[in-house]
Amino acid sequence: MATILDGKKIADMRMEILKEEIEDSGLYPRLATVIVGSDPASKMYVRMKHRACEKTGIGSVGVELAADATTGQVLRTVLGLNNDGDIDGILIQLPLPGQVDAARVIAAVSPDKDVDGFQPFNLGLLFSGRPRFAPCTPKGIMTLLSEYHIEITGTRAVVIGRSIDVGRPMAALLTNADATVTICHSKTRNLTEELHRADIIVSAIGNAHYITRDMVRPGAVVVDVGINYIDGRLAGDVDFEQVQQVASAITPVPGGVGPMTIATLMENTYKAASLRSCDSAW
Ligand code: NAP
Repeated sequence: MATILDGKKIADMRMEILKEEIEDSGLYPRLATVIVGSDPASKMYVRMKHRACEKTGIGSVGVELAADATTGQVLRTVLGLNNDGDIDGILIQLPLPGQVDAARVIAAVSPDKDVDGFQPFNLGLLFSGRPRFAPCTPKGIMTLLSEYHIEITGTRAVVIGRSIDVGRPMAALLTNADATVTICHSKTRNLTEELHRADIIVSAIGNAHYITRDMVRPGAVVVDVGINYIDGRLAGDVDFEQVQQVASAITPVPGGVGPMTIATLMENTYKAASLRSCDSAW
């Protein structure tokens, strides 16, 4: 049976350590979240992020805009936070409503406060192999693999999904860590054939239990990013019960990648505060 990569345990441990580091630093990092509308799932994620801030000694402010807010209104909020000397990190809760130009909003976040790592400048740094703020989900996965001493150098990794928040930055981080990486997506001709060559599989599709036992090479490490619901219950992209019988290590859903994403957001926020304090010292 596979080793369970316990993201909840590792995230809790890292947040404990981070709390002590923040206490010792004398800094008081602050995160601002921006939510547009009242989508229940988005509101829940924002609440979880504020709770993590409380746990780690990070201050947090929440900005809530009406569901019919315009791109201009959201941009003005972002610019205000960019110029607010008390704020170290800015998180725009995605998805934004359809009338808001999400790409413009993300691009408007100051690269120095872009703790989500989606701002084009920070993505450029990541893709050039010198990441500053890497997106939280893929960075959290790298941390989880490292905490379990999973070898990446020289392995063949397959990332399923090519979104800008998960798939592409995940592939960049694995490449930076010397894996040989293939990105698959909905137009990939033979996904199973690609997966059979993989030592590490990261699935970020958003389709419950899509990855089955027969698709996974025995001994592969399987990371499940998917958040799906079956009859109201949370489920990953991977058929966990079956795949854990062939994989060497696997993340559960829930309790795998999700907690690592939040812990990484806290680490990025502290990093933003530290970098800002160095800058002001100069
Ligand atoms: P997304 O933007 O919808 O991207 C999904 C990707 O999967 C696309 O690139 C799509 O290909 C690909 N895809 C869809 N069906 C496929 C198939 N049958 N075979 C191969 N590839 C397929 O989603 P996302 O933002 O990356 O998120 C992916 C999942 O991760 C979602 O369930 C999301 O809720 C979850 N998530 C979890 C966390 C966490 O912290 N745990 C964080 C972020 C996201 P095309 O590009 O060709 O359409």
